[in-house]
Amino acid sequence: MQQESETPSSASDSEPRRFPCAQCGASLEYAPGTDALRCGHCGYENRIVGSTAPILEQDFRETLRSLTTNAATRDNIAIHCDSCGASYSFDAATHAGQCPFCGAPVVAKTEQHRQLQVQALLPFQIGRDQARVAFRRWLGGLWFAPGGLKDYARNDARLAGMYVPYWTYDADTTTRYQGERGDDYQVQESYRVIENGEEVERVRIVTKTRWTPATGTVSRFFDDVLVLASRSLPQDVTERLEPWDLANLTPYQEEYLSGFQSEMYGVELEQGFERARELMAPVIRRDIEHDIGGDHQRIHTLETRYGAIRFKHILLPAWLSAFRFRDKTYRFVVNGRTGEVQGERPYSAWKIALAILLAALLAGGGLAAWQYLSAAKQGPALDYRPRYGWVPTETHRLQNANPVGSPGA
Ligand SMILES: [Zn+2]
Ligand SMILES: [Zn+2]
Repeated sequence: MQQESETPSSASDSEPRRFPCAQCGASLEYAPGTDALRCGHCGYENRIVGSTAPILEQDFRETLRSLTTNAATRDNIAIHCDSCGASYSFDAATHAGQCPFCGAPVVAKTEQHRQLQVQALLPFQIGRDQARVAFRRWLGGLWFAPGGLKDYARNDARLAGMYVPYWTYDADTTTRYQGERGDDYQVQESYRVIENGEEVERVRIVTKTRWTPATGTVSRFFDDVLVLASRSLPQDVTERLEPWDLANLTPYQEEYLSGFQSEMYGVELEQGFERARELMAPVIRRDIEHDIGGDHQRIHTLETRYGAIRFKHILLPAWLSAFRFRDKTYRFVVNGRTGEVQGERPYSAWKIALAILLAALLAGGGLAAWQYLSAAKQGPALDYRPRYGWVPTETHRLQNANPVGSPGA
């Protein structure tokens, strides 16, 4: 049976709203991939009435001014993790537990955050069970992962459904530049060589470049430049989760957050735009090079004016798992829309050594392999297992997994 959402029982400005089940009173939670809230207890469903309001982008400079008067913000109560600095909304069920960003135990310590309001979000499409399957498959495909990592995933990996904060920026840019255009031309050059004891003159074709000054102006409109507003997730890992289907952004409604957590942004609106400028810069340089034309381009100076800048504060869905091993945190993220997994990972040194040995056996054939083996038995080649059970981690991309290459080599 479906009904429209009722007015939630306790609605305050700062705490997450609860949506009680009309049938049994338990908390309703957003059901990923649907437009409904579902009761985990009795299965009752409430349909979320979608907002028809357009998603409005805000004026950047005006908002920066209004931030000084707190006009555009609201208070949020958040849990703060002292280990990694993450601040996130508490889910009514867990006031204490493990920090989903770093795996450290957190005791509920709440604090007030004045934050800009969220304009839009992408609701979860992938549920917890699907995320777990994707995560395990990813781990299963990792070569050289220590056995302990897989045991962890099988037994105690806790996946937290987290809405991760992002900014998007639009900007109308105009860039004036000064540089040089290089045009290639060919000349015949004569030169002398000694041949059979005689000096002879030869001719060769040489390519040269003629440089001429170039100045001009290029314009480009940037739409929805995406900037991570979390300081708790590694940027290189989250960037590999892109692209997001931003065309499906839904106006912010608290129902979608029910049963999930959301992180408070740690990158402020103004800092986020600095990152957006970094992302725009190479595109502008390419525009300039194209504008200069010729065979080669040099850019000496450029000055960009950012006209109308607009932004949105949005939330994107991810399943997180953090795992601590020997004082280091390894973080895994599952894209809550597509199920794609990215993460940091440790390597097992002895599994790598074994693979190198195996490769040598295959490549070297009988005698060489026998020699290698004897050398390995005597020498310290395989001897480092107990001392370096784990070698330093590096972030890892599944698509690039290379079964025989050693990490960092
Ligand atoms: Zn119920
Ligand atoms: Zn933490």
